[in-house]
Amino acid sequence: MKIIKIVVLLIVVLIVIVGCFLGGFIYKAKKGINFYSTAPVSLPVFTGDKTILIFSKTNGFRHGAAIEESLLLYKSLAIENGWTLFLTDDAGVFNKLQLDKFKVVIWNNTSGKVLTDEQRIEFKNWIEGGGGFVGIHAAGDDSHQWDWYAQEVLQANFSHHNIGAHLDTARLYLEVDSTNSVITEGLRDTFELADEWYCFYENPRDHSSTIVYTVDESTYDVNGNIGFPLIDNLLHADKNWGMGSDHPIVWYHQQKAGRVFYVAPGHSQETFRNKNYQKVLRNAINWVGDF
Ligand SMILES: [Zn+2]
Repeated sequence: MKIIKIVVLLIVVLIVIVGCFLGGFIYKAKKGINFYSTAPVSLPVFTGDKTILIFSKTNGFRHGAAIEESLLLYKSLAIENGWTLFLTDDAGVFNKLQLDKFKVVIWNNTSGKVLTDEQRIEFKNWIEGGGGFVGIHAAGDDSHQWDWYAQEVLQANFSHHNIGAHLDTARLYLEVDSTNSVITEGLRDTFELADEWYCFYENPRDHSSTIVYTVDESTYDVNGNIGFPLIDNLLHADKNWGMGSDHPIVWYHQQKAGRVFYVAPGHSQETFRNKNYQKVLRNAINWVGDF
């Protein structure tokens, strides 16, 4: 009897530990655990004028491997394109004086609420005053808790991503016409990519965005339900749905005097090694920076 009691106790303890771990993971992914930094960073004196701030801070989920791979890519693209990079996870750089030293800011899989209210105002003014913004993958999820950013910058509120076959191979189709040659330079009309596919409540096309690529939902499983009804019901309503035949996955728009470009794929390390994806990022940066 004593052994049975010990076994039952161990099982209960195990369930509690797994529950706490899962709960903590989901909370961090959905809401983030917010740490701020407000002291200005130490910036070098930049010699080139194609200055790019690559910001990879994650108060929510961290796409560690993808971020590491992306930094290698940005460094090699910088050599080819004459860009000057500053890589940081420190949000202290989001003040007017230091933001003004950059032409482009990339939210590189940034997640959670990373800026204070004051830093948000500085960043909004910087974008709308002529800055170029590129958001990658998690920069477009629902962990940021910033209505202006979701509605005006992303122009789409995140709902979920596919879960069943997580890094599912899907086919993308180029839509934007070649009149914007900076954005379309070297891009394939269609290509396949294995990634985590974001699904949004709104179509950014219904706002002011121009769509660069759509993803063909018939080529992957859109289901975003975890598969355990108890957890699914606790977390959200049914997520086994997609955006239908018009599912934008890369888009851009003018944001007052500034420019915005959003790229939804970017979960996987492998994605940053895809030649066509690399060209999408290169063109995005060159366009938002007006380089
Ligand atoms: Zn992801």
